[in-house]
Amino acid sequence: MNRTTSEKLYEEANDLILGGVNSPSRAYKGVGGGTPVFMEKAKGSHFWDVDGNEYIDYLGAYGPIITGHAHPHIAEAISEAAYNGVLYGTPTKLENQFARMLKDAIPTLDKVRFVNSGTEAVMTTIRVARAYTNRTKIIKFAGCYHGHSDLVLVAAGSGPATLGTPDSAGVPQSIAQEVITVPFNDVEAFRDALERFGDEVAGVLVEPIVGNFGIVEPAVGFLEKVKELTHENGSLLIFDEVITAFRFHYGSAQDLVGVNADMIAMGKIIGGGLPIGAYGGRADIMEQVAPLGPAYQAGTMAGNPASMAAGIACLEVLNDPVNYERLDAMGEALEEGILESANKHGLPVKINRLKGAFTVFFTDEEITNYDQAENTDGEMFSRFFKLMLDRGINLAPSKYEAWFLTIAHTDEDIEKTLQAVDESFAEMAK
Ligand code: PLP
Repeated sequence: MNRTTSEKLYEEANDLILGGVNSPSRAYKGVGGGTPVFMEKAKGSHFWDVDGNEYIDYLGAYGPIITGHAHPHIAEAISEAAYNGVLYGTPTKLENQFARMLKDAIPTLDKVRFVNSGTEAVMTTIRVARAYTNRTKIIKFAGCYHGHSDLVLVAAGSGPATLGTPDSAGVPQSIAQEVITVPFNDVEAFRDALERFGDEVAGVLVEPIVGNFGIVEPAVGFLEKVKELTHENGSLLIFDEVITAFRFHYGSAQDLVGVNADMIAMGKIIGGGLPIGAYGGRADIMEQVAPLGPAYQAGTMAGNPASMAAGIACLEVLNDPVNYERLDAMGEALEEGILESANKHGLPVKINRLKGAFTVFFTDEEITNYDQAENTDGEMFSRFFKLMLDRGINLAPSKYEAWFLTIAHTDEDIEKTLQAVDESFAEMAK
């Protein structure tokens, strides 16, 4: 595949833009380096790059694109918003309309607030939890990603239930001290953390279905126990639903895991591809936020008409169970086909899948927590990623990411993808 224009653009980008990319995961560091492909156009399930190569897309822009690229209903809504003025700095009817749609789909949203990214949404839930409880610490789970605000860029300390250490330069130790990181699916470690730091813990933050060290579902009873212990401790439970909201069904993951949180943070899908975040939950907790309460959160772009219009249009498209059945059926076909191929070529592959999202791990082990995901074979994944890319299949460049199906994927896409998988596995098995 000729990618000379991508190569030239990447060279230029490296002169102009720090690291050549505007978000680090877009560089191919997670797959041993290389030139990221510069895409020029996207439609449905397909991408075309600047050299004219065509790809089937499973990146889905890291999650937001579930209707397929450039869905006409969303494109029209964005276009109409553009001609009506994209930013007012005043309230608009669209905000009410969208808030009502979200509340109809997610009844736990007594009150909601729109922001501009998942990072902002999660960051604010933490502030609100702190304001509500008058406590400062949070507990989070290893390998869950919650955006790039200081407090959530903290890794686990060296022992069980120790305080965290900064995971990024620029995050002060004083902030890392406020975060306790425990393994996902480990009730005992969680209980231990609460026993040590309980009366200081404002909130417990978790991806109810993990999307950031692969798709990993909570063990039976895990989230129920987390909720019970969190509430016994007087802390708030926050679900980070930036990936999960509207991904697996029309609504929140709370319905799927059978546990409601006190607040949830959302993003990605609810913006229909435009920048968005939202957080919401119990009215008495949300009332901490300005202008009603003492916790400050604001935004020039928050609730802007373009993002509202795109979000409304996206949910209008999604609101039909047939979509989710189709995503599940395609996910199942890919899962079965990939495993069959791996088996045929004698490669160690495990797939964690929920409906139309799944992760292909190169390992013999089951993946239920971050340590296990970390131990999967990154070199094999890198090889697979590049072989697939050369066959016109665009995956996320990291062994931890999911394949995200869209309702625009076709049976022909699935067939071509499985053919590419089989060829790639055959190369890898040599
Ligand atoms: N939370 C989760 C679960 C995410 O996956 C992400 C982004 O990948 C974020 C928060 C941050 O969202 P954003 O990139 O919109 O700031």
